[in-house]
Amino acid sequence: MTTEELLHFDREHIWHPYTSTIDPLPVYPVERAEGVTITLKDGRKLIDGMSSWWAAVHGYNHPVLNAAAKAQLDKMSHIMFGGFTHEPAVELAAKLLPLLPPSMQKIFFADSGSVAVEVAMKMAIQYWQSQGKQKKYAFATIRSGYHGDTWHAMSVCDPVTGMHGIFSGSLPVQYFIPQPSVRFEEKWDEKAIEPLKDLLEKHAEEIAALILEPVVQGAGGMYFYSPTFLIAARELCDRYQVLLIFDEIATGFGRTGRLFAWEWAGVEPDIMCIGKALTGGYIGHAVTVANHKVFDAFYSDNDRHALMHGPTFMGNALACSAALASIELFETQNYMEKIQKIEAITRREMEGFTDPRIREVRMMGGCVCVEVYDPAVLKGYQEYAYKRGVFSRPFLNYLYAMVPYIIKEEELVQVLQCMKDWFARR
Ligand code: PMP
Repeated sequence: MTTEELLHFDREHIWHPYTSTIDPLPVYPVERAEGVTITLKDGRKLIDGMSSWWAAVHGYNHPVLNAAAKAQLDKMSHIMFGGFTHEPAVELAAKLLPLLPPSMQKIFFADSGSVAVEVAMKMAIQYWQSQGKQKKYAFATIRSGYHGDTWHAMSVCDPVTGMHGIFSGSLPVQYFIPQPSVRFEEKWDEKAIEPLKDLLEKHAEEIAALILEPVVQGAGGMYFYSPTFLIAARELCDRYQVLLIFDEIATGFGRTGRLFAWEWAGVEPDIMCIGKALTGGYIGHAVTVANHKVFDAFYSDNDRHALMHGPTFMGNALACSAALASIELFETQNYMEKIQKIEAITRREMEGFTDPRIREVRMMGGCVCVEVYDPAVLKGYQEYAYKRGVFSRPFLNYLYAMVPYIIKEEELVQVLQCMKDWFARR
């Protein structure tokens, strides 16, 4: 197929995410990708500013991940997890658990982040059913969150930036409180927890769990809030008998500057979801992890008390092998230091950068976000960056970079300079 034929067929028959079918955002035919460089079919090279939706933390075509996947491929790529288990899954679980809050000891494999969130929500509801609390089936969450595109995950996404407008009436109605008013670097103020306290005082009888992205909210609003909020939320959840779910799908594996964002506050949730960078961006996979309290509620010989979920590709052996190799790389190649360096370079390049169209520039760990007042200001940025040899895809009011951690200084500077030059052009 020529590039033109490929693009024509794609345009005629293939749906791309979140874009108009009449006036779609551009898609570029990729030939291969290596390190942080994406090579298109026409030979053009782009530096990756997105890590494939924040997952490809080691860049692409990594020899260690390739070797792990190839070795596993020669044994089996997949076997159903109902009735079987295997070394890649067990070894991955054994590797992962010591990295998580000490109370989290029970692991469920899922095939995507959204499914991991659905599983977490089902766990919470089944937990309360086992405690005889049949009315606890609603969820509380904070605005500007994002938890995935499947049904219940969507119901706890931000009502404005999420898809509530389109699916209103058919989505379950959940309880929203404002996003925490105290920002990451600000001094804690008890007032910031009052909305949650008011909500739980009134509705704890119906609420199974509070679900949130700890410290850094990603796709719902790119907002960084005080870790003390998590401490206060944990206390309230315990007081009002509500489970606490941390969605670390975007924040996990160093994106916020800590291996997992719960570490900023030392707060342990009851249930935690991890995905995206889990497999180093190689194959879709995720996990939902629970503490003993939640797990013990399923401790029964009655089949009706089993956790009712079992996706076809759960525990996929290729994904588990890639994930295991990815975590080993994290440990042996000092990734947390690489992330610190990315943050330092980003601060050096972006601190103080202003423009009348910019509301705020936010930076933390491996994330930088330029929020503009008017989303129209970012229209055309993807093509602009493409011409400058950078891949970037802003959304709503957010122009951001979440680069692979193996990026070199000059490549990162090129990604950031591209953002700055966009505002400088006439
Ligand atoms: N939760 C969070 C915080 C996410 O950022 C995402 C993906 N952007 C998801 C859940 C959903 O994950 P997936 O796309 O793998 O279903």
